[in-house]
Amino acid sequence: MRPGRDIPPRRDESQYDEFEASELFCERCRQARPVRKRLLLVLPTGKKYDYVCSVCGHSVGSKMDDDTSDFTILRGT
Ligand SMILES: [Zn+2]
Repeated sequence: MRPGRDIPPRRDESQYDEFEASELFCERCRQARPVRKRLLLVLPTGKKYDYVCSVCGHSVGSKMDDDTSDFTILRGT
């Protein structure tokens, strides 16, 4: 018998995310701008993020990751 459930080592994602997409091309500014990453949704399949131009506030893109760590309770099998 194993003493409890194995917890996988958690990647340091918060730090990684900071460098993931620090600049994206903004259609409104017509040049690459630093972006703010905003958590939009937390789904069983992952989290959806929205990237917003930090200069004009225009949405420059969104991204889905497969981080389901918030939904491990649903993966009991
Ligand atoms: Zn912009």
